[in-house]
Amino acid sequence: ATPTSIMVGTGRGAELGILFRKGQALQSLRDARVVAVDKTGTLTEGKPVLTDFELAAGFERASSLAAIAAVEAQSEHPIARAIVQAAEQEQLVLPSIAQFESITGHGVRARLQLQGAEQTIEVGADRFMASLGLSVAQFAETANRLAREGKTPLYAAIDGQLAAIIAVADRIKASTPAAIAALHALGLKVAMLTGDNAQTAQAIAAQLGIDEVKAEVLPEGKVQALRLLRQQYGPVAFVGDGINDAPALAEADVGLAIGTGTDVAVETADVVLMSGNLQGIPNAIALSQATIGNIR
Ligand code: ADP
Ligand code: MG
Repeated sequence: ATPTSIMVGTGRGAELGILFRKGQALQSLRDARVVAVDKTGTLTEGKPVLTDFELAAGFERASSLAAIAAVEAQSEHPIARAIVQAAEQEQLVLPSIAQFESITGHGVRARLQLQGAEQTIEVGADRFMASLGLSVAQFAETANRLAREGKTPLYAAIDGQLAAIIAVADRIKASTPAAIAALHALGLKVAMLTGDNAQTAQAIAAQLGIDEVKAEVLPEGKVQALRLLRQQYGPVAFVGDGINDAPALAEADVGLAIGTGTDVAVETADVVLMSGNLQGIPNAIALSQATIGNIR
């Protein structure tokens, strides 16, 4: 590519809301064979809502939801916001908590102060419950149904006893299906990387026609997943929005951040898509092919 063609491409990108932060980015984008995309906040709105709340025998709805929401009120995860909102809609009073702890990729834990008594609340994924020695078998059928619907099943334990299954669902962005179709039309594979439940991720991927799914990955796991995709397909582009996505944005041959995402993601990226509209991804690749030349 000549300096002039890079200048022209970069200028045209700016008009389309695509900011090239590094000169090399146009070239790397043109060479990409696979686009790996973070799910929550990138493919989806990142604003999940609580859809289901089922109790185990012996647990009472209002007090259980209030206790769970009190713990989640300390967390910054989008899932936490969904649970707190549900409790607020029911005008529940949240008890005060102590010793809050967040276990990355697993869930949250805290102690509740209830009129002199104390209670331990743990909320998170099935693997979190398993690590606590708790079986979620009694909710297996419900969990399968929820995951098939593309919802994320979560569990709550109160004082070491399984108390509830909770589901949250996050809407797919309106621009996602067309953006994936456009990437396929450009000859690229599309992969989805997520910390979410494997069955939930599969259901969403099937709905969107996504080629590869790597689910239940921890933030460091996203880097490993990118290396495997590179071995399998060749140069990899990664698109993400979160603090969690910074290592993957750095590892990818070209990293694209959603401009509405976190500062850390934007600062680590080679390319910034100014809007949350995912059409920016195929647009950026088409522009790189037009500017540098299509190698196929
Ligand atoms: P992602 O951003 O892709 O959801 P995370 O690593 O942040 O990945 O979370 C992975 C999983 O850990 C979530 O899908 C959920 O099951 C569990 N988890 C994380 N934080 C919380 C929380 N505050 N409350 C309940 N579950 C949580
Ligand atoms: Mg995200």
